[in-house]
Amino acid sequence: MEINFTEKVVLVTGGSRGIGAAIAEKFAEAGAVVIISFKNNKKAAKNVLAHLEGEGHNAVKCDISDPSLSEEMIERVVDEYGKIDILVNNAGIYEEKSFQESDYSYWLEAWEKTIGLNLLGAANLSFLAGKHMIKSGEGKIINITSRGAFRGEPDAPAYGASKAALNSFSQSMAKALAPYNVQSYAVAPGFVETDMTEEILDGPQGDLIRGESPMNRVAKPEEVANAVIMLAASGNEFMTGTIIDVNGASYLRS
Ligand code: NAP
Repeated sequence: MEINFTEKVVLVTGGSRGIGAAIAEKFAEAGAVVIISFKNNKKAAKNVLAHLEGEGHNAVKCDISDPSLSEEMIERVVDEYGKIDILVNNAGIYEEKSFQESDYSYWLEAWEKTIGLNLLGAANLSFLAGKHMIKSGEGKIINITSRGAFRGEPDAPAYGASKAALNSFSQSMAKALAPYNVQSYAVAPGFVETDMTEEILDGPQGDLIRGESPMNRVAKPEEVANAVIMLAASGNEFMTGTIIDVNGASYLRS
């Protein structure tokens, strides 16, 4: 296995914060040119960009739940950099409300937004980038899914469904793209210390959540990024289709 991404062009969606920012940093440290995408938070994106090692990195504003904006972003990256070697579908949202507290309008909106970004956004980008990867004769797609795909998410059913579907999508792409030397993987974290979970982890449920792992803590963004880097490294092509858990043994499956 070789962790050297010199001359590789990597697109990390949702790279302005949290897990995406940690992934961008690790790729840049290992020599890649990194493009991060963000939705609104230009200041955070610029801050991540300013701290990336090496040169040539960029940040692109794109609402990934809009298929035409996603298409524009991929074309822009390919025009500017000539290719996309690695796509990390990391951008995602998590919204929770109990079944009993939800009314129908919340329910409809939560499903539409969550599936629109977490599943359809990742699928559309994989399609668009996958076409360019096939032309290049190689490529890797890494999807950030979730432990929630396996264990049930009573207060965020759209989220759990979006991530289970993204695992399945990732496996379908592994089969569809293998003949063209393009690999597809999923990384499924449990709770991670990011903006997404800050309120929950700082609240009354925090200790209970940390206690789900026998390590009595949640993951750091860098730990998820390490799994992504490992899958992206050359030498791990035969792992295509895999789903890697990063959950501190809080939920085990075999
Ligand atoms: P986060 O801190 O909330 O950051 C979310 C990122 O996604 C930001 O860069 C945000 O951009 C971007 N984003 C949000 N909506 C978008 C949209 N419509 N179009 C494009 N970009 C959008 O999230 P995180 O905790 O790092 O999570 C990253 C991924 O890991 C997600 O897919 C999440 O489901 C998954 N995950 C997280 C955890 C956890 O405990 N944190 C656990 C399992 C899986 P702006 O900065 O512009 O808003």
